[in-house]
Amino acid sequence: MHYFCNKMITRTSIFIRTAQVANAIKVCLSYLLSATLHRDLRLGMPLSASIEPANYCNLHCVQCPTGLGMITKKTSLLSLENFRKAIDVLTPELIYLNLYFQGEPTLNKDLPEMVRYATEKGVFTSVSTNGHFLDMNTCVKLKDAGLSHLIVSLDGANEESYRRYRRGGDFKKVIEGITNAVKSGLKVELQCLLLSSTENQRDEIEALGDKLGVWKTTFKTAQFYNSDSLMPADEKNSRYKKGSLTIKRKLHNRCWRVISGIVITTDGEILPCCFDKDCAHSYGNLFKTGTTKEALCGILHSQKASDFINTVFRNRRRCKICTNCTE
Ligand code: SF4
Ligand code: SF4
Repeated sequence: MHYFCNKMITRTSIFIRTAQVANAIKVCLSYLLSATLHRDLRLGMPLSASIEPANYCNLHCVQCPTGLGMITKKTSLLSLENFRKAIDVLTPELIYLNLYFQGEPTLNKDLPEMVRYATEKGVFTSVSTNGHFLDMNTCVKLKDAGLSHLIVSLDGANEESYRRYRRGGDFKKVIEGITNAVKSGLKVELQCLLLSSTENQRDEIEALGDKLGVWKTTFKTAQFYNSDSLMPADEKNSRYKKGSLTIKRKLHNRCWRVISGIVITTDGEILPCCFDKDCAHSYGNLFKTGTTKEALCGILHSQKASDFINTVFRNRRRCKICTNCTE
């Protein structure tokens, strides 16, 4: 009996991996064709997705539309039932799932069950959190559920610098959360935004990460919506030209992210990417259309989706969100 069960599991895994690889080849081909012919020529299904467990947050970060209350949609949590439906239509092709968009994912108590469901379907899972609700019980549940990667934001080497950006946050609580996550065996990445309050603390933050035993510490340039005082003083720590909100690198009329992935919000809106914070470019609503593979394909290839992608591949400057994006 045990032998037959193992054999079935192996066969299922081979089926999933084959579907994922075949789809990834189609998506790469889609990108090359779309970039060469400057139009939406998508084949296959998304190979990555961000699904939003909660669209509200306990913090008020300085440049976050959620924390600043700029988001106009109603606050909500994703139900486990809708999450399962979304995963059912995205698999077996989906390879990577990020359980985060706007809002703090650990506010959704079904998060470990969501991770378990996606993991059982052969999907690599990642959660990005502000680290305030990582008690030992939650960490153990996430580990048991098979979470592949936990990203914890820690923008500062001490309480004072941390609070400059993470307004309403508690530095000690995040340190405690990281400690619990590491102890429970999760693969933890400590992520720090490069801001005027952190750019001179890189060594200290790295040393703190080592002391806490995290898998790695990374530094990321921050996205800004206004020229806030937290803009780094050193241009090399910023994605913008000095004293402006103009992206330093050349904006190409192509985008891998919009071809390979999607975002699904708590209430089922399908968005092109995580820069569409307030759902201005929704392709359609998955939960209102029956949540079948056919419905998903219909939304992905709707007129709205094609128009958006054609704009990105012809003249991305016409799309506001694409001008504040490093992709
Ligand atoms: S913790 Fe994340 S979601 Fe919450 S306000 Fe800060 S950046 Fe936004
Ligand atoms: S904002 Fe535009 S360029 Fe950036 S990831 Fe989204 S679609 Fe691509």
